Order: sequence, then structure tokens, then C-alpha cells
Amino acid sequence: MSTEPVEQAIIPVAGGPRPPHRRRLNPPDDRLKAEKLMALALAQARATPAGDVPVGCVITGRDGAVLARASNRREADNDPTAHAEILAIRQAVGVLGDSWRLVDATLTVTLEPCPMCAGAIAAARVGTVIFGAWEDKTGALGSVTDPLREAGATHTPEILGGINADQCADLLKEFFAALRR
Ligand SMILES: [Zn+2]
Repeated sequence: MSTEPVEQAIIPVAGGPRPPHRRRLNPPDDRLKAEKLMALALAQARATPAGDVPVGCVITGRDGAVLARASNRREADNDPTAHAEILAIRQAVGVLGDSWRLVDATLTVTLEPCPMCAGAIAAARVGTVIFGAWEDKTGALGSVTDPLREAGATHTPEILGGINADQCADLLKEFFAALRR
């Protein structure tokens, strides 16, 4: 069995130095598992309403069952809090019914969460966060800020960043290129 550190394999070097994502799932299945979840999140991103930045999120339970899927709907709903992660967290909690704590859940999102969503992830005690593209302007899981891993953080999930980052970023680039046309 390979003991190669998984974090080395999944942290992209493009875009400058990143803080190490020390926490991780159990290697060596991590990457494969994360990529499968990211494929679901990407499908959800592609289902984003026209006019909204394409970001997709899925939340799965301990057994891998999908608890929630959501796309960014800020424009569609005219709601600045209608990010994919927030909508998915609300859905997942509704499915579980008896707890707002998502400690056994994995939240997979195509773009590095913003500060608002990082706050919601902490509030919901999400166990694991997997994200795709890095967000250089607002990313709050290491790119610009890193509140969930700061000393004094109330909750620190397992974090895997940069999973299928190019694919996730391409979707965003296509969207913004189309806007400029
Ligand atoms: Zn957000």
C-alpha cells in the first residue's frame, strides 16, 4: 500500500503558494472518492440557472448517500445568501430532520467557499469539505483567508482542495467569457 502523502498529490502549485491542507481523509482512496463526488458537484454546477455564476454543491452522508444538491442561485432568487453551499446545507439538515449538525457529512463544492459559506460550514459542523477551483479573490479555505483553521476556530473540518480544479475553473471561465461576448 502506498504511503505517499495524499495532500502532496492534490494541492496544486498553480496560482502561487498555498497553505498546507494538513488534514485529510484516509489515503489512498481519498482522491478517487473526492473525484467521484466532484463529478456530482460539477453536474450540479452545469445545472446552475442561466445568469448565475456556475457553482455546484453536493452533500453526502456517512454512507455516501446524497443528502443535498444545489447550484448557485443568487441572481435567480435575488438573494445574496443563495450560494450553492448555503442552499445545500439547508437541504441536508432538512433531510436529516433531527439535527443541524453535519459532522458525518461531506460537502463537495466546485469552487473554494467564500467567507459566508466558510462560516456556515463551521456553524453546521460539516465533517469534510472537498472543493475544486481555488478562488483567488474571496477564497476562505486558504486562498485569501483561512478562518476554519485559525487558532480559536470553533470547528475545523477535513479539507481537500483543488480536486479537479481545472475542470471546475474552466466552467467558470466559459461563463465569464460568454458574459463578455
Ligand atoms: Zn459562498
